[in-house]
Amino acid sequence: MNDKNLNDYNDNEISELFYQSVDAIVIADSPSDTYRTIVSRGIFKSILKDEGVYHDLIVKLWFHVSDTNMEVIEDYQAFAYNTGIFKGKYSRRLKINADGDDQPHIVQMTVYPFGEEKRYLFVLDELNDYESLEESLTTKKINTIQNSYLFSMYIDLVQDTTSSINITEISEDSVNASIKYSEWRMMIVNMFGPEDQEQFLRRTDPEYLKRNFTPGRTSSYDCMMRNLEGKFIWVKLIFSRAQTNNDDDYRFVFMVQDIHENSMEILSALKKYEEMAITDPLTGVFNHGEIETQLHNALSVCHKNGEPVSVMMLDLDMFKKINDNFGHSAGDTTLKHFAKIMKDLAVEQKAFVGRWGGEEFVIVCYGKDADSALKFAEVLRKSVESYEFPEIGHITCSIGVTQLKTSDEFQEVFDRIDKAMYSSKHNGRNMVTVL
Ligand code: GH3
Ligand code: MG
Ligand code: MG
Repeated sequence: MNDKNLNDYNDNEISELFYQSVDAIVIADSPSDTYRTIVSRGIFKSILKDEGVYHDLIVKLWFHVSDTNMEVIEDYQAFAYNTGIFKGKYSRRLKINADGDDQPHIVQMTVYPFGEEKRYLFVLDELNDYESLEESLTTKKINTIQNSYLFSMYIDLVQDTTSSINITEISEDSVNASIKYSEWRMMIVNMFGPEDQEQFLRRTDPEYLKRNFTPGRTSSYDCMMRNLEGKFIWVKLIFSRAQTNNDDDYRFVFMVQDIHENSMEILSALKKYEEMAITDPLTGVFNHGEIETQLHNALSVCHKNGEPVSVMMLDLDMFKKINDNFGHSAGDTTLKHFAKIMKDLAVEQKAFVGRWGGEEFVIVCYGKDADSALKFAEVLRKSVESYEFPEIGHITCSIGVTQLKTSDEFQEVFDRIDKAMYSSKHNGRNMVTVL
C-alpha cells in the first residue's frame, strides 16, 4: 500500500495526513473568548464542544483537581485568562479526565499563535499507554520535590508588578501573567478565611513590606487558605526580599507552602498538652487548679448576669479504712470509679467535676439553684451508695452544697461547701447538706 516515494506527497496530501493523524484541532480567539473545534476524535469528543467559550476550554485543560474531573475553585480560575495567552509556540503534556473515566488521559498539547493577535491553533493528541506511564512517573517525581510549595511569585513593589507566577499544583510552568501586585492582593484575599483576611492585607501591604524587610530578609506566617478544591488548609506564607545594594529596590519572592498535615499534628499535640495540664491523672476529671479556675469563672458568671450557679463538695466516707483493709491500689481503683460515677451523671447536666485533693471532689453546676442542686446531689449520693465497687464492695459519700450569691467571693463559697460537707459528716455521713 505504502509504496509511494516520499517525494511524491504534495501539500494537500500532507495536510490530509496531518488532519487524519491528530486527535483534535481547535482554533481559538482570546479577545472574543471563543473557540471552534475543527477535528475531535476519541476522548476529545466529550471534552470539546463544536463551539465554546475559550476560558472554559482553558479551565477544562488546566484547572482541574489532579486526576479528577473536578474543576478547581473560581478564585484560582482567575489565573486562567492569563494562562490562555501565548506569546509564541507552546507545547506541554496535560492530564485530563474525560467524563465517566476513572483513569486520567495524558495529552500532548501544542499551541500555534497565528494571524491576528491572540488567535491560536491548538493541536491535541492523546498519548499511548507507554508514554502515559512514563509521563505520570516523571510528574510524580516532580511532585514529591515541589509538592509542599503550592504557589510562588516574583514581585516588584516599585513597578507594582508580579512575574513568574507558579501554581505548582496546576502546572510546573509559569503562568504567562502580567498581573499588577496591587490587583493580585485583592484577587487572592478571598482565598483566606474571613478571620485571616485582615492580617493578609496588612502583611502584604507594600508599605508594610518596605518598612519591615531589609534586603535579603525572609519572614513567614501561618494561616488557613483554600486549596484547589476549595477546602481550607494550613499554609505558610513566605516573603523574602531580594538581596540588593539599592535601598529603593524592593523586589520580593512570595511563596505559599502546604503545612497542613504537620500543623494538624501540632494542634492535636497542643490539645493533648492542654488536657494534660488541666486533668487529674488518676481519675481523669479536672485537677485542683482547673476546678479552682472553674469556680472563679462560675463566680464571675453569677456576678455578671445573676444566672443560678451551685457548687458542691463530695468526700468519700471512711476512705482511710479502704486503704488500710484492701491496700492503696484498691483505694486508687475506688477513686477512679467514684470519679466516673460523678462524670457520667455530670455530662447530662451543665456541670464540671474536679478533684480537690485526696478523696475530695468539687462539682460546679450551672443553671441550678440550691433546690435543684440538692436534687442532683441526692442522685449522686444514691448512685454511689448503690454502686458495687470492685474488690471493696460498697462505700458512701458525704456532700455539701451551696448556691452562689452575687455578693460572694471565692473564699466564702469554699468555706460554705466545706462547712456543709463536714456537717454531713458530723450528722452521720452518707448525706447531703445545703448551706
Ligand atoms: P471521713 O469519712 O471522715 O472522710 O474519713 P476518711 O477516712 O475518708 O478521711 P481521712 O481524711 O481520715 O482519710 C482520707 C484518706 O484518703 C487518707 C489517705 O491515705 C487517702 N488518700 C488520699 N489520696 C489518696 C489517693 O490518691 N489514693 C489512695 N489510695 N488513697 C488516698
Ligand atoms: Mg473522707
Ligand atoms: Mg477528706
